[in-house]
Amino acid sequence: MGKKFKQNGEIKNSNLKKQGKSVMSISPESASDPGPKNPLESVLSSSSELPPSTDRGQVDNFCFPFARAHKRIQEGGWSRQVTQRDLPISTTIAGVNMRLIAGGIREMHWHTASEWAIMLYGHARVTAIDPQGRSFVNDLKEGDLWFFPSGYPHSIQGLGPDGCEFLLVFDDGDFSEDETFLISDWMAHTPREVLAKNFGFSVDAFKNIPENELYIFLGKVTQSLKEDLKSIKTPLGSVPHSFSYSLYDQKPNILTKGGEARIVDSSNFPISTTIAAALVKLNPGGLREMHWHPNADEWLYFIKGSGRVTVFASQGNARTMDFTAGDVGYIPKSMAHYIENTDDTELLFLETFKSSFYASISLANWMALTPPELVAAHTNINPKLIGKIPKKQIVIMPE
Ligand code: MN
Ligand code: MN
Repeated sequence: MGKKFKQNGEIKNSNLKKQGKSVMSISPESASDPGPKNPLESVLSSSSELPPSTDRGQVDNFCFPFARAHKRIQEGGWSRQVTQRDLPISTTIAGVNMRLIAGGIREMHWHTASEWAIMLYGHARVTAIDPQGRSFVNDLKEGDLWFFPSGYPHSIQGLGPDGCEFLLVFDDGDFSEDETFLISDWMAHTPREVLAKNFGFSVDAFKNIPENELYIFLGKVTQSLKEDLKSIKTPLGSVPHSFSYSLYDQKPNILTKGGEARIVDSSNFPISTTIAAALVKLNPGGLREMHWHPNADEWLYFIKGSGRVTVFASQGNARTMDFTAGDVGYIPKSMAHYIENTDDTELLFLETFKSSFYASISLANWMALTPPELVAAHTNINPKLIGKIPKKQIVIMPE
């Protein structure tokens, strides 16, 4: 990304040309900005500073960087969230970014939303149970996913050597990580005599329970995964569908010159009934082709590199915004869009949907599967060229 910046924060003209931004049609004086400006923001948001001439009208903001979210830092790690509160358009999904240092524990808890996650860095041990009393414990690495259905209790702990960082995706835009049900909070708000009766212990057994919630705290990893599995063994065994899945180990569903995509939904990760996702890698110059999703809004998270997205919202409204690693994007159901790698390094991002299945409709595929003369009547494109469009979704260009 360094190449996009100059010392004075001005946008490189060659970079604008590369991104197809026409500055020719309007005099440079008209686009100048002699007043106050935030030079870093101007460069990061160059598509807002100088929009493509095809942008028009009002499209609600669809970008919010995690870097702008409040970070709740505690002993053992931190969390931050991008929800409907910061990004009002994101009504169906909210995201949480969390870091746990080695030994750091996100305490035993549950919540009303279902939780889908991807490990972004390091190693973690996760635990959960289902309502049938079957258990789950596993150690996860970068690129692994987990899914905990609504209400299922769980915990996460950072492992050595340097803990972990991960992204949580909740199937509710109004979700808040600060409003979950915590084991410490519940015990602190239950009469000690009831606690004693509930477990068949003496009241004295509860004299050291925390007075306030722990949320994230520093613990120790005392046992191996094998020992942990042994200590919770019951005749009911473990959950029938694993709560975890290794996405980076999956073969790409799409592989072209422009990049690759891995799709994960309830067809290959059966427990994940409310979140579908695609992990997309675009090589420099690569384009996630013009398309839309008929079944759900899209919640985007950028993992590496930078790119731009134009959303077409009908009635002549279109808006282009720029994204960099760590940013969240949101595109309502059926609104048309593309994602383009605008940098000279790989662009890696995650598309997530509140749905049991992944689905998209491509503009090129639609045109290829409609009689060429009919398409030509709409577009004035030579029917011979239209006939050459491959009759399958390419997904990532160039093919
Ligand atoms: Mn949770
Ligand atoms: Mn999309």
